[in-house]
Order: sequence, then C-alpha cells, then structure tokens
Amino acid sequence: MRKNICPVCGEKSLSKHFEKQILKEPFGRGKEIEIVEYRCNACGSSGDFFHENDILIEEALSILKAQSVKNILNDFSNDKKIQLSAIERVLSLPQRTLTKWKNGAVKPSAAGVALLKIIGLFPWILEVAENKFNYDIAQSIFIESAVETFMTYRIQERSTQANEASSMPSTQTDALTVVYSPPEPFIDSILSSQRVEYGIGQNNISPTA
Ligand SMILES: [Zn+2]
Repeated sequence: MRKNICPVCGEKSLSKHFEKQILKEPFGRGKEIEIVEYRCNACGSSGDFFHENDILIEEALSILKAQSVKNILNDFSNDKKIQLSAIERVLSLPQRTLTKWKNGAVKPSAAGVALLKIIGLFPWILEVAENKFNYDIAQSIFIESAVETFMTYRIQERSTQANEASSMPSTQTDALTVVYSPPEPFIDSILSSQRVEYGIGQNNISPTA
C-alpha cells in the first residue's frame, strides 16, 4: 500500500501528523510515544491508515511490562512481608527465575506477570497458598485483610476530619479516604456474621479441623 494515497478516496493528498501519547502499565511508569495520524486533504478522512502504530505501541508496552515486573520485584525486596523464598515455597516459582525476570535476563510469561501483579496488590494471597487454598481459611484471611484495610481508612478519615477545622484538605488521599469507606451498616453486618467472628485473628486455624 502506497503511503501517499488515501485509502478512503484514492486521492494523493495525505499529510502525516505526529501526536504524543503516554502509555501506562500497572506498576510501571508511563512511557511517551509518538503516534502517527494521516489526514486526507481531499476527503477529510483521518487515522492510522497504514497500521504503523500497532508495532510502536506493542514495542513500548513490552518495555513497560518488563519495567513493571522489575518494579514489582523491587517492591517485594523492600517489603519484608513478601519474600521470594515464600513465593518459591508456596507457588513453586523458583527464586532464580524471579531473579532473572528482575534483572531482565529472561522475559517473564504473561501468566507470570499477571501472578506478580496479583501478589503485589494482594500480598495475603501467599498466605492463602500456604494454607493449600483451603476455602474457609482463605475466606478468613481475606476478610481479616479487608477489615484491616477498612480500619486503616477509618483512622485516616478521622484524622482528616480532625484537621478540617484548621486546614483545607484537598489532597488525593483525602478523596480516596472518602471513596473507600463503606457505610457503617455494611461493616456491622460483616462483623456479626459467624465466619468473620471466627476468622479474625485466627488465620492459621482451620474452622473445620
Ligand atoms: Zn481521502
């Protein structure tokens, strides 16, 4: 396909434009790329007529994904709660493989990347795996984590309210605090359910044992 002919009207009247775009990948930083757009001066059509952006975007995403894996694994190293030895033990993902992903010697599989993101977001999933994915134990680990998160937000919310009189809270954290606070009756009903009462603080005890 000739790149000076409009695929819509066939006129030889195309102009080429570049537009900056920022690609984002969870746990990775953003990457700026320049995407191409053709505009036809004859019929007014516009777009990536010759599919030049696909390759560009794919390459940039591949770099971002590698960076995001590196960031997640660095976070694991900094956060003592997640240890590579634990990942190896409970998920049979060898530490040497993780190290190769981290230093870029080997490109991780898509499944591997997804798994790391899940562990990064929900570190308690390792405890679930350690307990051999037992349903009841998994539920209590999950709910304990949810309650802990809820309490953290509540504390933040209270300190925000306390500060409101003297200052103008306008940070993103303040907004998040409000968004993530479930209504009181919701939490009351969770706390009064049998499974939760059992679960809090008793991660490692199987309810059915
Ligand atoms: Zn045209």
